[in-house]
Amino acid sequence: MPVGTQGTVKGLTPADLRASGTRILLANTYHLMLRPGSELIRNLGGLHRFMAWDRPILTDSGGYQVLSMKELVKVTEDGVEFRSHLDGKPEFLSPERSMDVQADLGSDIAVTLDHAVPLPLDAAAQREAGERTLRWTERSLRHARTLKTPEGHGQLLFAIVQGGGDSALRREMAERTAAYPCDGFAIGGLSVGETKRETWDLARAAAGALPADRPRYLMGMGTPLDLLDGIACGIDLFDCVLPTRNARNGMAFTSEGPVNIRNAEYARSDRPLDPSCRCEACALLTRAYLRHLHLAGEILAHRMLTLHNVTFYQTLMETARRAIERGVLDQISREISERYRERDGAPPAPA
Ligand SMILES: [Zn+2]
Repeated sequence: MPVGTQGTVKGLTPADLRASGTRILLANTYHLMLRPGSELIRNLGGLHRFMAWDRPILTDSGGYQVLSMKELVKVTEDGVEFRSHLDGKPEFLSPERSMDVQADLGSDIAVTLDHAVPLPLDAAAQREAGERTLRWTERSLRHARTLKTPEGHGQLLFAIVQGGGDSALRREMAERTAAYPCDGFAIGGLSVGETKRETWDLARAAAGALPADRPRYLMGMGTPLDLLDGIACGIDLFDCVLPTRNARNGMAFTSEGPVNIRNAEYARSDRPLDPSCRCEACALLTRAYLRHLHLAGEILAHRMLTLHNVTFYQTLMETARRAIERGVLDQISREISERYRERDGAPPAPA
């Protein structure tokens, strides 16, 4: 899922997103509840109509963004008190309020509110946040069942699994979350200070304890290698700002490995960014031209690199789906990984 923080995947139109192969995108509850406000979006018919996107939307609960503003936040059993990053006004997010906002937005998939914690953290605090997440999950699900989207539908509901940096606690939390009636599961609170190896140990512990007949979503990751490693752990859905954020910094993901378009070696290159990519940037433009646009600070550079990176990620996932059907995921993952590990020095895959 490309990330549409403010109800837009920065620089791309709905037609661009469809052309990239995007089937579902993520919108951020926290940002949209503060601006322009979820009531306004409900009154205008919901987020699909507001942003002219007729394919599925998943909204997060807003908890991650709120809790990452550490010093401005107070967590109680009721919910999270925080101050808006826009105007400093006091705000409150509870399980019920998060589900209300997501119903107003009219997303197809809504996610329960969780209590994410940074790592490292002592065992008692990890347990406390995990237990609170379970109580908030129950409240979120109970409340969400009473709500309707602006189009008069119910939503699919995903529950978040927490459990900090302890594999046994992760497994226990996944098992207890799996007992709730919901449509899918999100694994949250990873990539928050632990090593890559720990991330995959924790993701595997959680994913292995979740039912195989419902989707598993790993929140906030990652690089192309992370996606392949995640798929091998049984993950079905991902979201990440990397393809869009890196594009604005001149970083392209290609089938030949990462390309920093600012590098002098591309000044006279009349090759496309990625000869095996189907996107508009790769069909029409050279690396030399994209480099020039980027160095001149032209909007078109951001737009074309974003379109390319999102297309690359969608193509990578298509490749993985086909490889799973043919039973050759390991082999395909190895081939792609080699091109990336050589170039960016990424750590080895989990054993
Ligand atoms: Zn491309």
